[in-house]
Amino acid sequence: MFDFLTSDKLPGLVQAAYIIAAVLFIAALAGLSKHETAKRGNLAGMVGMGIALVATLVIAARQAELPDPLDHWRGLGFTLSVILVAMLIGAVIGAWRARTVQMTGMPELVALLHSFVGLAAVLVGINSFLDPEAPTEGSLGAIHEVEVFIGVFIGAVTLTGSIVANLKLSAKMKSTPLVLPARHLLNLAVIVLSVALLVWFMNDHDNGIIPLLLMTALALALGFHLVAAIGGGDMPVVVSMLNSYSGWAAAAAGFLLDNDLLIITGSLVGSSGAILSYIMCKAMNRSFISVIAGGFGSDGAVSGETRDYGEHREIQAAEAAELLADASSVVITPGYGMAVAQAQYPVAELTAKLRARGVQVRFGIHPVAGRLPGHMNVLLAEAKVPYDIVLEMDEINDDFATTDVVLVIGANDTVNPAALDEPGSPIAGMPVLEVWHAREVIVFKRSMATGYAGVQNPLFFKENSRMLFGDAKDRVEDIVRALPS
Ligand code: NDP
Repeated sequence: MFDFLTSDKLPGLVQAAYIIAAVLFIAALAGLSKHETAKRGNLAGMVGMGIALVATLVIAARQAELPDPLDHWRGLGFTLSVILVAMLIGAVIGAWRARTVQMTGMPELVALLHSFVGLAAVLVGINSFLDPEAPTEGSLGAIHEVEVFIGVFIGAVTLTGSIVANLKLSAKMKSTPLVLPARHLLNLAVIVLSVALLVWFMNDHDNGIIPLLLMTALALALGFHLVAAIGGGDMPVVVSMLNSYSGWAAAAAGFLLDNDLLIITGSLVGSSGAILSYIMCKAMNRSFISVIAGGFGSDGAVSGETRDYGEHREIQAAEAAELLADASSVVITPGYGMAVAQAQYPVAELTAKLRARGVQVRFGIHPVAGRLPGHMNVLLAEAKVPYDIVLEMDEINDDFATTDVVLVIGANDTVNPAALDEPGSPIAGMPVLEVWHAREVIVFKRSMATGYAGVQNPLFFKENSRMLFGDAKDRVEDIVRALPS
């Protein structure tokens, strides 16, 4: 064991393990991009992470090496014990949270996990600056100082930004944007001040901790302000953007720790988060830069709630069952309410029953339906709805005009025509599922309350729409019972 740990071949073996882990992480991302291969993708990621952990433990053991073998074993034992105890505590808390978290609580949990990555990057950066063995002279010293500064900056923005995202998503903080006067100038001032602090930091190593800590405080405030200024409707983009930041923070930590795998993994997370944010911005017709700068869509936007759209009409489950029994094509558009009600199982049962009667049933999924990207797909897969009838918004939107009945199950913002018709609406410009083109629309919800973005939905008042009030799970079960077999 001692020989193995001190062998010259060990660093090469660890590098090889890191490359295998990196390839497995790339395979995981590729697998996760399709329903059918998602489980395999997860498995590849887990195996990759297992290999990475073992390789990192081996490197930690090697670094604990001391000249005298007896001391070596003491040092090794101590290092490994500390790491294993930390891992055990983390694993117990992680396993408990993963088992207890509701699907609807996933985005806020993810946001909280991003804040840990940010915190880790801040601590690694400060620690690396204080390390007496860290280079301080010449170009190597300068590169190291820039790495520390940028790593701590990104980490601090990620830390507070993610905490605010967590508080907003869990409704512990208002989801309406915080609009401070001259907010863009404030953000710009923080960046300019941080650059000035970087110059001080690089020219006065002995007192470097002062500009480093000052910049950390500014970056913490910037993270808070950036996310607090973002409105509810743009939250999905923020979560994926913070995911991207956390990746870059991890990559920065990788440079400081001289750990290639952390650099690769951080870059994968950073770039995939940025690409996802871009795709979501396109899906919501938002400008990526404006969302990142904060507060997009909040300036002077008028909530449709004050408008009078007229009277809504209601329908009961038995009548809805008759409509469905007579239909030849049905599209189901699920939203956040399906997740809250856990209605995916009766929805799957209803789908199977209708298909058995020869009705064409398909699902239309909006890219930001629910509370996290892919939320609806996960729920439907859990209830074993066949993948090939689950279509994306762009694939189904043209077919509503030839659809007999649309069931809007707990969706609201994602089927709101105000996004297209009302330029002053906070969700103006967001592409939506155009369900109102169908012959009949049945909306499952408990009340006339607004959706996540807080705007009223004119769909509920259209001639061909009827409201089926109550918990979505109960109402779908009523229909399944009432449907002639
Ligand atoms: P919304 O959040 O707009 O609306 C959900 C609707 O479900 C509500 O109107 C609510 O009405 C209804 N509902 C809640 N509970 C139940 C229940 N038990 N039974 C029946 N109905 C219920 O949903 P969408 O999915 O259409 O839109 C998602 C919104 O969330 C978008 O604005 C999106 O931008 C935002 N968002 C999305 C994220 C993502 O990544 N997907 C992340 C964060 C935010 P009522 O109370 O009357 O029952």
